[in-house]
Parts: sequence; C-alpha cells; structure tokens
Amino acid sequence: MSRVGPVTRVAVVGMGATGVLTYVHLVDHLLTAGVGAGTEIHLVERSSQVGAGVAYGTQSDDHLLNMQAGTMSVFPDRPNDFVDWLGGKRDAAAYIPRHRFGEYLRARLSEAMSRADAAGISTEVVRCEVRDCYFDDNEVRLVATAPLPPYDYAVLCVGDLPPTTYQELRPHPRYVHDPWRAGAAMPPVGARVGVLGSSLTAVDVLLSLRSSGHEGPVTCFTRSRGLPRVQPAVLRPHRLRHVTEENLLRLTDDAGRKLGLAEVAGLLRSELGSLVDWRRATGPRQGDPIALLRSDIDDAVHGRAGWYDVLDSTSELTPLVWHHMTDAAKTAFLRRLHSGWSGWRHPIPLVNARRIADLAERGQLRVRPRVRSVAPNADGGFDIAHQVGDRVGTTTVDHLVNATGTGFNPWLVDSPLVRAMTHAGRLRAHPLGGVDVDFATLRVRDAAGGLAARVFFVGPLTRGVHFYTNSVETNLVNARALTGQLAAAMTKRVPALSA
Ligand SMILES: Cc1cc2nc3c(=O)[nH]c(=O)nc-3n(C[C@H](O)[C@H](O)[C@H](O)COP(=O)(O)OP(=O)(O)OC[C@H]3O[C@@H](n4cnc5c(N)ncnc54)[C@H](O)[C@@H]3O)c2cc1C
Repeated sequence: MSRVGPVTRVAVVGMGATGVLTYVHLVDHLLTAGVGAGTEIHLVERSSQVGAGVAYGTQSDDHLLNMQAGTMSVFPDRPNDFVDWLGGKRDAAAYIPRHRFGEYLRARLSEAMSRADAAGISTEVVRCEVRDCYFDDNEVRLVATAPLPPYDYAVLCVGDLPPTTYQELRPHPRYVHDPWRAGAAMPPVGARVGVLGSSLTAVDVLLSLRSSGHEGPVTCFTRSRGLPRVQPAVLRPHRLRHVTEENLLRLTDDAGRKLGLAEVAGLLRSELGSLVDWRRATGPRQGDPIALLRSDIDDAVHGRAGWYDVLDSTSELTPLVWHHMTDAAKTAFLRRLHSGWSGWRHPIPLVNARRIADLAERGQLRVRPRVRSVAPNADGGFDIAHQVGDRVGTTTVDHLVNATGTGFNPWLVDSPLVRAMTHAGRLRAHPLGGVDVDFATLRVRDAAGGLAARVFFVGPLTRGVHFYTNSVETNLVNARALTGQLAAAMTKRVPALSA
C-alpha cells in the first residue's frame, strides 16, 4: 500500500462515550504539543447520534449512571467537570440520568471541535458503518458503507455490542435479543415477561417496564446469583492501604513475576477488613433474592455498605492488578468468582434498588436463580427450567428479553467489522474474552501476535486485557494513553509507532 500523503489523517470509528473521549484527548494532546495544524480527523459513526452510544442514548430518567456524578468527569485533572457542567444544582454524590451524561459528552465534544478548528485541525463527522479494516506499516484502509480515504491511524471504539448468548432465539417474534437497539419493542402491558440476566442491564429493563406502566408479572432469570448488591446513599472516599501500586510492584518483584489469585484476594481482603464477612461474601448467596435485596437496601440506608467505598476506590488500579495476574489466576477468577464479584462491584444505586423492591412489593417481580434451559413452547411463549432446591421447576412467560449484557466473543459479535477482522486474522480474539490489544499502547494484535503500528482498539471489548472495561473511567485512562502516543508520534513526525 502507498503512503497517505502530507496531511496526517486519523479516523475515530464509533462515536459513543469512548469515541468522544478519544477525540477530546487527541485534540488536547495535539494542542498541548502545538502540532495539530493540517491534521484531518474523521469521526465515523453509523447511527444518527454522535456522542451518546448505547449507555447514554437512552431517554429514560429512570436509567441512571451507576456511578456518582463526582466520578464521571471526562478530564482526569478536573474531577468536578461533570458536576460543574450540571450547573451546581446537583452534588457530586447524585446519580444522574444517563442521558444527561450524553449531553455533557456532546458539549465537551463540540468545545473540542471548536478548539481544534481554531488551531487548524479539521474535523469531519462521517455517517457510515465501517465493515472492515486493512492496514500495513504505512496506512489504514477502512471498508465502509460510504467511501472513506486512506488514513494514517485508526482508533476503533465500536463499544458495547449485543449479547452473543441465546442466539438461537433471535428469529422468535416475542424475543428481544438486544434491549438497547433503537426501536426495540416493549412487551404488551399485561404480558408475562421473562428477563434473562441479573446485571445492571436487567435492572434497566425492569425499570423500563415499570416506567412504561407494565402490569403483567415479570420474572428475572439468572444463571447463578440473584440481583446485584445495593450502593450506599453516599460514597465516602477511601484511602487504599493494601491494594496499592507499591504493593503490586513489591509482590511482583517490580513486575518480574505474576500474582496468583490468593495473593490478589489477600490484598483485597486486607483492604476490606471487617467491612465484609469474607467467607460469606465469596461463597454462593443463599436465600430469597428479593429478601436479600431488601436486606441490602437496609444495609445501604443504615451505613453498613462501606465495602463499596473500598471497591470503588480500587477502580483505577484494577486493570493493573489484572495485568499482573497469572493467566491461571485470571481464568479461575472468571470461572468461579466473576459472577459474584460483579454483584458487589456493580451494585444498584439505592434509588433504583427501592424501585425494584417496589415492583416486588406489588407482587409483580420474582427472581429465579439457577436457570437450566430456555425453550420456546407451543403457545408462542417460552418455558424456562430452573433449579428449585433439589428439583427442576418450570416458569412459562409470553415474552422474553435478553439482558445478559455485552457480547464479548469477537468471532460471533454483531459487528461486521470485528468479525471480519477476527476471521481474517487482523485482530486476535483474547482467550479471556474480547479482542487482544497491547496493555499499554492499545495497539491491536493480529492472529500471529504481531502489534499493528497504526490501528488501536479501546472500549468494552478489551476486557480480556484490562478487565474493568465496562466503565468510563478505564476507557478514559486508555483513550488518554493511546492519544498521547499518537500525538507524540505526530509531533516527532514519526510515520508509525515502532513495533
Ligand atoms: C446500559 C449500560 C449502562 C452503563 N452505565 C455506565 C455508567 O453509569 N457508568 C460507567 O462508567 N459505565 C457505564 N456503562 C459501561 C459502558 O460500557 C461505558 O461506560 C461506555 O459507555 C462505553 O462506550 P463506548 O463508546 O465504548 O460504546 P458504545 O456506547 O456502544 O458506543 C459505540 C458507538 O460506536 C458506533 N459503532 C459501532 N460500530 C461501528 C462501526 N463499525 N462503524 C461506525 N460506528 C460504529 C455505535 O453506533 C455507537 O455509537 C454502561 C454500559 C451499558 C451497556
């Protein structure tokens, strides 16, 4: 392939939250280095809305950020930026509707575009879907539903993709595979509805049903655990004493060895101290999930959920801890502990937990853990088999919603781009889920393990590498890191990052 030419051209593919973070920080780095003039940046987005994506495109006021406003700034050095943008009417501890965060993202995007324009950086929004990406050491070619020029660099931010579970049910007329798809139909108001999954996506579906005035019974079916835990009313800052970078370096002999699961668990256990009963916390949760939800609400209200302050304070270090673990430890964690961990790490904001409890109070919501099978029945609905003590019970529903969350298998995900690159070996599936990239540089890895010089991938799908990728915080750190390298390469007029 030939070189691109005198103008440096960059494509950001996918303009959800991560695409916005990538653009804003690329502009920031270029302006700081004073090298942007003449750069062309294309923001490529397939949907009609730029700067919202799956999580922040919802219009429902019930769909809240699962993090307090004070933790959601797009600028690491200005932690109050989101709260300030909200206009001082909200405090840092508030749980804001997610669509407000989408508005904030678009406001910061538009400011960055103005700053870029003033500095001679041209930015163009291109509406099309990228379906494949070829590259060599000289340039990047994007195959899309509209013609695109060759690029010097491409950053792929394709985001949260629909689940890859229950694919066989997709043709069924009463099955919703992706509740986040624009225009996904809600079941009729009196229908018996089944919701597959128990994570925050399932909580969102329950809240959508509630706010749309749904009257029929709703059953949440979960593979193993019940509902997530409940966040305390107020998040209190916690200063880490055990899960620290210094301890990580000490235990890994300055990154020379990897950590076992017991070592990581030991650090976390010391950090949590007496805030949780460790044995009970790491074992299967026994009891009626609704009764447990009520008891969790009680704990949150009465100051007994301080464990969340600790877990929240580990966010920034989590990708690094993951990076330092042995492959065996990561695999064991994902197999045995991940589901339980998610319940602790992604608890329900108190206000929404109360709404869910209210659904149960009205006798409308049941939770059925330990699902065994899901099958369409002769009446046009579904029979769901689940374990009830020693026997298997069956619950019948008229409509079924898949709320099991983002799909992480790049061979199967609903993204022609990711699938094409994976099948062609230009992108490697990570054995622990998602796509393989270099931990520090976010450059994509091909099937042979080689790192691309000009193509980066950032967002939820780098989960196998960074683990905690379903958060703005990690994607912000990664977007900032990769755009820093990009800007540096452009500053030095180095044509590509050295392999
Ligand atoms: C329902 C939900 C709620 C969440 N709530 C929170 C929260 O409160 N706090 C938090 O920190 N994290 C939250 N998350 C985690 C979330 O994953 C990240 O915070 C972040 O929103 C991910 O943004 P993204 O831009 O990577 O992905 P997405 O939001 O999925 O955006 C990807 C964008 O790329 C576009 N696109 C995809 N493929 C192509 C293509 N081939 N060509 C062109 N365009 C393409 C899509 O149309 C979309 O606009 C939530 C996630 C979900 C699903």
